[in-house]
Amino acid sequence: MELATIDRNLYQPTFDPQTGTYQDVSPFKHRSRKNPVYECRCQVGSFFHTNSIFKVHCKKKTHQMFLTDYEYYYKDADIAKQEIKEYRIENEKLRRKLQKYEGIIRLREQEIDFLNGIGDAHEKEGQGQGESDDEFVDADDHR
Ligand SMILES: [Zn+2]
Repeated sequence: MELATIDRNLYQPTFDPQTGTYQDVSPFKHRSRKNPVYECRCQVGSFFHTNSIFKVHCKKKTHQMFLTDYEYYYKDADIAKQEIKEYRIENEKLRRKLQKYEGIIRLREQEIDFLNGIGDAHEKEGQGQGESDDEFVDADDHR
């Protein structure tokens, strides 16, 4: 049971389009070690982490029943889980994209505020110059 807490994956049989049935395909390479632990839902506490243990497990009667019933009892749930996983990834991508665009919009708003500030300053300067031009004319008249 201790293995269950380490990097656990749910085992799923593979659909064989030629026979139209689900078949056991080992998730491990022959003689490979340090594999992730897989759990089979045919029986509580069914775990395997090597190719040989997997092959022995597949011969069990409860596992054979699981394989036969897989389409009826498990397939839809597995497809739904896979879809949820894909949607989460997609959602995360879109969330990051949105954050990026929000950042760009914030920058543009700051630029607009800055440019508006310059515009206002020019307008005020313009008014100021108008007044000072009048003063200049006045000053010339006085000469
Ligand atoms: Zn099994």
